[in-house]
Amino acid sequence: MSDSVRSSAALLQQLKLDQTLNDKLIDSEFPYKAPKHFISQIQLADSKDPLLKQILPVEEELRQTEGFSQDPVGDFKKNPQPSLLHKYHGRVLLIASPKCDIHCRYCFRRHFPYEEHTNQRHWQEALNTIAEDNSLHEVILSGGDPMSLSEAAVLKLSQQIEAIAHITTLRIHSRTPVVAPDKAIQNKWLDWAQQSRLNIVIVVHCNHANELSEQTKELFAKYRQAGITLLNQSVLLKGINDSVETLKNLSHKLFAQGILPYYLHQLDKVQGASHFEVSDQQALALHEKLRTKLPGYLVPKLVREISGEPYKTPL
Ligand SMILES: *Cc1c(COP(=O)(O)O)cnc(C)c1O
Ligand code: SF4
Repeated sequence: MSDSVRSSAALLQQLKLDQTLNDKLIDSEFPYKAPKHFISQIQLADSKDPLLKQILPVEEELRQTEGFSQDPVGDFKKNPQPSLLHKYHGRVLLIASPKCDIHCRYCFRRHFPYEEHTNQRHWQEALNTIAEDNSLHEVILSGGDPMSLSEAAVLKLSQQIEAIAHITTLRIHSRTPVVAPDKAIQNKWLDWAQQSRLNIVIVVHCNHANELSEQTKELFAKYRQAGITLLNQSVLLKGINDSVETLKNLSHKLFAQGILPYYLHQLDKVQGASHFEVSDQQALALHEKLRTKLPGYLVPKLVREISGEPYKTPL
């Protein structure tokens, strides 16, 4: 991306951070990547900034931790067809793009062999499978991040899904509206969405209130005007959002921008992310306290994905 800072070392310099942090940085197979908007929301000269921690590849990632694997949610195994993940009843997840605008260091898909799973031929096969299965009513575009595709590609895919009569709901899982609102789908796609027969849901991914800005607010207002339901999922991350105050502020700010909290995920145990782990005991205690601070509709469901279970399992 031409407008992102090229390297984590350059980022430290731009953010006026102590260069000793530099010595902790590593070269990762899942390289540093962050868009301009996300970077602009980071506080200067604060090495503990909750957004900065989500993108810096640090030496803790090299730690080998027991119980942390390459495929914690069983996606490699449960994949009968490239680009289609059908784990839950009634809905199917289509890996629309191998790329993301940001590389979140805790991501459970950091080891997923995306390139084998996403090309136009695979989409067509996936769409054929969806068209033949009457038990499906919802298609989820995910990735990677579907909004890393061109708007024209998302529009075409959306229209192809709309053409399947038994599909009633189109859901898009994307972190782009939050981290790079200037790159999120709008324009022609929104014109289509406004008059589509489908229920459209966008599930964004925001972990901290500081990620939300005037730009995200404008974008979400447009989505809402088009009749789109907006939900958020977060990952519970040590040192980033593992406090009642932070989670409470996040829910309030999301709602102020027209978004309801949906899921708060316990971290998937992926190799390289163990330094972000919050224990189940702590997570439950946090969630319990959160309930005492918020109206029920602003409390996200605390869940963990367990390989083989038929839904995201509440803690
Ligand atoms: C998380 C997930 C979904 C969506 O689950 P909901 O509970 O409907 O939000 C669907 N398919 C797969 C493969 C998933 O991992
Ligand atoms: S945007 Fe989502 S899929 Fe992409 S790196 Fe971040 S958490 Fe992973």
